Amino acid sequence: MFASVIVSITASDVNKIFEYKIPEGLTDMIKVGHRVVVPFGPRQIQGYVVDIKDEVDYDPARIKPIIRALDVEPVLTPELIRLAGHLADHYIASYISVIETILPAALKSRSKKMLSLDNPGGEASLTWQGMNLPPEVEVKKLSTSQLAALKPFIASGEVTEKTVLTQHTKQKYARALKPTFAPRGDFGRAHKQLELLDFIEQHDEHVLLSVVLENGYTAGTVNELVKKGYVERIDVVVDRDPYKSRVFEEDLPKALNREQQHAYEKIKHAVDEDIPETFLLHGVTGSGKTEIYLQTIAHVLDKGRTALMLVPEIALTPQMVNRFKARFGDEVAVLHSGLSHGEKYDEWLKVRNGGAKVVVGARSSVFAPVEKLGVIIIDEEHETTYKQQDRPMYHAAEVAKYRSRYYNCPVILGSATPSLESYARSERGVYTRLELNHRAVTEALTETKIVDMSIEHRNGNISIVSEALKEAIEERIRHGEQTVLLLNRRGYANFQICQSCGHVPNCPNCDISLTYHKAQFSLMCHYCGYEDAVKRECDSCGSDEVTFRGTGTEKVEEVLKDMFNTDIVRMDNDTTRRKGMHEKLLNTFEQNEIPILLGTQMIAKGLDYPNVTLVGVLNADTMLNIPDFRANEKTYQLLTQVAGRAGRHELSGEVIFQTYNPDHYAIELARSNDYRAFYDKEMAFRRLARYSPYYFHVLFTVSHETVQKCLEATTHIHKMIVDNVTDRAIIVGPSPSPIERINNQFRFQILLKYKNEPNLLEVLHEINLHYNELYKKEKLSLKIDVDPKYI
Ligand code: ADP
Ligand code: ZN
Ligand code: ZN
Repeated sequence: MFASVIVSITASDVNKIFEYKIPEGLTDMIKVGHRVVVPFGPRQIQGYVVDIKDEVDYDPARIKPIIRALDVEPVLTPELIRLAGHLADHYIASYISVIETILPAALKSRSKKMLSLDNPGGEASLTWQGMNLPPEVEVKKLSTSQLAALKPFIASGEVTEKTVLTQHTKQKYARALKPTFAPRGDFGRAHKQLELLDFIEQHDEHVLLSVVLENGYTAGTVNELVKKGYVERIDVVVDRDPYKSRVFEEDLPKALNREQQHAYEKIKHAVDEDIPETFLLHGVTGSGKTEIYLQTIAHVLDKGRTALMLVPEIALTPQMVNRFKARFGDEVAVLHSGLSHGEKYDEWLKVRNGGAKVVVGARSSVFAPVEKLGVIIIDEEHETTYKQQDRPMYHAAEVAKYRSRYYNCPVILGSATPSLESYARSERGVYTRLELNHRAVTEALTETKIVDMSIEHRNGNISIVSEALKEAIEERIRHGEQTVLLLNRRGYANFQICQSCGHVPNCPNCDISLTYHKAQFSLMCHYCGYEDAVKRECDSCGSDEVTFRGTGTEKVEEVLKDMFNTDIVRMDNDTTRRKGMHEKLLNTFEQNEIPILLGTQMIAKGLDYPNVTLVGVLNADTMLNIPDFRANEKTYQLLTQVAGRAGRHELSGEVIFQTYNPDHYAIELARSNDYRAFYDKEMAFRRLARYSPYYFHVLFTVSHETVQKCLEATTHIHKMIVDNVTDRAIIVGPSPSPIERINNQFRFQILLKYKNEPNLLEVLHEINLHYNELYKKEKLSLKIDVDPKYI
């Protein structure tokens, strides 16, 4: 018997599959989907079995045997292996990169990072990979040569010296063995031992070693007790369920209203008839989409099938997770980006073994190893987080549709503000559109106002809060209701500026101005991490009249505190850096009835608090200026989403958009909550400018430390494209990328727009292959982004 194995190395023939012999003893065991260790040149490396066959085309005597299998059961299902092949093809990625995206990090070959084409210098990684670490090893216990091989990983922050590469947490306990203890010898030491034995016995006869040490006992005392046979050390393998300690109140299904019922029946029909239909559930914020998801999943579970539920980011949607836990209890596995590798692996294993029938998670959960899928749901389908920005640059919705065809189950794409691409597909009947036009709980309307900030300034109010918003907030405070305020950060930052010459300090490595961070009193680059002290004098003209521009959340928080003399919860990158802080801050806001929640984009989705009756957007237009053809769409989506946080329950809501562009249609139509009008208007612009959804896009980005090489490469790529596409395709560029230099690498791009190009995939693969080779020689990197979300 022979196995086709994809190995974890970058070779020039990226997608080559190697053949190995299955040794006698393993023929019954090794299946498609197994991780194996195979000889590769002088090394031993990890690979994945993708096929098993009786014969090979060439001399079997020359085929080397598999060394061993790494798992008892295969980690990949045949379905996921097929999926990997499809995605590698569609997204111009290597097979191995897709497989290692599908698997949790704990199962990946350790050299993953070095194998990615974005990272030069493979040598260390191969040594590292050759190590074949046992399932649990503390990095700090490795030999010096092994440690040397690890240096790049430590430098990149992927591995810390304390990282324990483990599949389960092993907790070390001391356990009391004998109930009585007769101290002998040196009395002082014996006394201490006796005390410790007591201590252990008080803790149900076993206690974590770390607790023992924290309580003032030494390892020496423990050792002596162990030596004497009074205590033993045990390792207990524990499952790390981050939600284990929580209690969720049970939540019962609600009687659906007419609109919901109609949508639900359509979806249910697809589930019952095994139709891989894609639904676009277009429902205004608060219309009860989530309730439809929940009831669909309940139905799917009744039929003995499983469900996948994707959300843009788990940390931002704690309420969503709670609703799923409350409805389905332990049947839910939550794949959370805040989990450690080990915790993620535990959840993954639970899913793989059928212990969880509902998987809730962000983008990568679309690869969850569930079988018998009955439905895949993507909530807030318009969010760009569903598109991965690294290779493989996949979109979760494409993956979902592919899996749905394998399992013959429906996909639900839900949103109050669908992406233009999805809505256009529903217009053409590719997707089935289901509409929810009314809020589920309330008939009370939300009133939305636009405040023109230039008039406000002319009238003498130079504050960031307009008179209208100020009055509205004061009224809420008087009535004990709550306000959510959005400070839109995209396309907007704090920076230092010279008042004499206008000079703004830039990052020396990137073509972007440095952002001022007040807490650290420093200037930072958000692209490469460069940090510099705040300037006392202008670098350009030497003037000491340097000041700061832009308004950060911190500053706004101070302004609001002064203005309203009240507590404020602030949510931004700084306050939510630590694990669990999102949820903690939201809980504080809700339970302590703090009058104002001020935050960045992260507060725009998913929040459902009955007492929030006012939403204010401090700067509604900053995103209109980002260099992206989707700027209007992103503005419309953000405003609609955040407006949807107000008046979701009995109390009616009010929304205020502050802007310098009161007449812009993205803002005006977000005010009137008229998605259809926005769609029509924006589609007209897309048609004229020949952008998606009228055209498909492929974005090529080349980066190198010299402009010369970037130009050479893009010129060459340009020629390869021109020679192979029809004259209906449009090629824009080569031109510098919007940020021309990041981390001392210049970046040039070509945008290909096309409608139908039968040979395109082949050309893309050819270009990719060519530049993979070049990369090794010249450190020139090429990224091919199929259906890019940022241009
Ligand atoms: P969406 O996902 O569209 O934003 P939700 O499902 O969160 O909407 O619904 C908004 C609110 O209405 C929630 O508090 C939810 O519990 C409630 N709700 C939804 N459907 C119903 C229903 N049929 N009957 C009563 N309450 C409902
Ligand atoms: Zn100056
Ligand atoms: Zn930089």
